Amino acid sequence: MLVVMKKNALPEEIEAVVSAVEQKGFMARPIPGGERVAVCILHNSGAVDASLFLQLPAVKEVIPVTRPFKLVSRESRANDTVVEVGGVPIGNGHLTIMAGPCAIESEEGALEIARIVKERGAQIFRGGAYKPRTSPYAFQGLGEQGLKILARVHSETGMPVVTEAIDHEVFDLVEQYADIVQIGARNMQNFSLLRRAGKSNRAVLLKRGMAATIDEWLMAAEYIMEGGNNRVILCERGVRTFAHHSRNTLDLSAVSVVKQESHLPVIVDPSHAAGFRDQVVPLARAAVAVGCHGLIVEVHNHPERALSDGAQSLYPDQFSDLCRQAEAVSELLHPLREKAAA
Ligand code: PEP
Ligand code: MN
Repeated sequence: MLVVMKKNALPEEIEAVVSAVEQKGFMARPIPGGERVAVCILHNSGAVDASLFLQLPAVKEVIPVTRPFKLVSRESRANDTVVEVGGVPIGNGHLTIMAGPCAIESEEGALEIARIVKERGAQIFRGGAYKPRTSPYAFQGLGEQGLKILARVHSETGMPVVTEAIDHEVFDLVEQYADIVQIGARNMQNFSLLRRAGKSNRAVLLKRGMAATIDEWLMAAEYIMEGGNNRVILCERGVRTFAHHSRNTLDLSAVSVVKQESHLPVIVDPSHAAGFRDQVVPLARAAVAVGCHGLIVEVHNHPERALSDGAQSLYPDQFSDLCRQAEAVSELLHPLREKAAA
């Protein structure tokens, strides 16, 4: 249930609603909207008597939240959320490009790729220090050393960085270095990790599990928001199907459904969906056309020598093409925004 405050409600009037909710033994979570604040009631097991709140000062209305994911739902926040990371906005009409290698392999290599992707259009640098690998014999990432290299990339290029926390054990360390902590597809329903992310002051990139429904994905985001972290970015990265022509099947319809169901930004990872670099640029174009708020793409200066995911990593010139084409499609969708910004 959502207690919607009047436009000019005072902080103490909002606080009075929070106290009234807490006195009933429930949790209250104020959600700032574009124009007004709404207080979302959580952890109520049945219907809540609306009259309790309607009589309080500055309460406009009380409306039910029909979806199981409450804080994530558009019902609790009509306007798109924009997650800002180091001055870079993600969401609501922006097209944010995150790029870099699958894994951080060396300082020299990471810095070179970072300079390349920045020059060609990326705003955020990606790179795994801890890698979730199918085989225990495969390169597992440089760990803390990789995080230190990410810090160097950040200070040299000014780009915020996104990197994965593969388990609870490494979360504290990853959080110290990452501007955005990634929760990978394999961990989308690792509930203790989601709860830890909910306590983080970092933005979280939540990838869709490879066999997760949209409801399961949004409920995973709800775990993070329920913990108090509202800076959640969703990422569609393809789901497992019978297809062999690609690593996964990019579910573009998920983007438009999520945009209807949730106010959170949703970006697309065409690299892990495709598995092969030649499919990445066309899928990126389609993702922008369907309305995603950004892309996360693997790029390598020498993909043939990459220690992971070389086959899907773009050559620098392909990444330039991707940025140009993504921007062109975005301009078609948002001509007014482009003119206004000019
Ligand atoms: C990654 O981004 O490097 C990654 C492992 O992605 P996913 O969790 O989507 O497989
Ligand atoms: Mn990868």
